[in-house]
Amino acid sequence: MLEAPVETIALLRTKLLGEFLESELVALGFCQLGCLDETIARYAVARDNDADATLAAMRGSIAWRQEMDIPSLVAGPALPSEKLEAIRHFNPQGFHGQDKDGRLVYIERTGYLDIEALLKVATPDDVLRAHVQKCEYKLNVLLPRQVAAAGTTAAKIVLIYDLENVGFNTFKTDVFTAIQRITAINQEHYPETLHKVYIVNAPFFFYGTYKLIEVFLSDRIRQKIAFVGSKAELIADIPAASLPKFLGGTCECFPGVAHGGCVSSASFTRTHYFVGLDAHYARSP
Ligand SMILES: [Zn+2]
Repeated sequence: MLEAPVETIALLRTKLLGEFLESELVALGFCQLGCLDETIARYAVARDNDADATLAAMRGSIAWRQEMDIPSLVAGPALPSEKLEAIRHFNPQGFHGQDKDGRLVYIERTGYLDIEALLKVATPDDVLRAHVQKCEYKLNVLLPRQVAAAGTTAAKIVLIYDLENVGFNTFKTDVFTAIQRITAINQEHYPETLHKVYIVNAPFFFYGTYKLIEVFLSDRIRQKIAFVGSKAELIADIPAASLPKFLGGTCECFPGVAHGGCVSSASFTRTHYFVGLDAHYARSP
């Protein structure tokens, strides 16, 4: 189920394989073995099937993967454990459950972000490095597993930003800078892996903040963002059993733990998601 014309994909495949070996692209995590066409299709859709722009975007991503040395980033844990722990403690987050069509759901509780505590332990570059490893885990481990289990609708993810507890002080300069860098990476190097973004519990003043964030976003991403006014809207797309209690669902992965243990928190990081991620990167390469 590719959304790009077959002839565009064929042309781009020929050009790309004239410059790189497929095994090189697999080693860089750019595509999975035997799935180059799916990767090309994602880049092509993101560039409105413009062949030249798609080729330039793919070359840019391959160069970025070489620069970031993705093979070494995925050969073990992204950072020393105290830094990873700080990121998980002070930026509550994680994959949790699925939407009604089997897409994996990622939740961030931005209102519980404590950027000052986080940056005492980890640098902005550390945060970025951990983010990229999570993206690789999503792209090359979780999504293929989910597609095998739930079909091609599961090839994209759903994001929920829960803004409960957000204050005027949440969006400090450091936070804006991080959002800008992370958004650029997501858009340029992980195109078309996002189905929809739900922003829930947005306080009225956030609409002003959003205008400042919106400028970092491509039109394609902007069209996927939905401000959710009621919990019923969320339940319509994500079954209650898949949704944490704090979002109006019924799940508590670890009852008695902050945020139900569904996402990480200042007091708990051994969520199902992070335990799985750590086990994956603890293996010998
Ligand atoms: Zn849960």
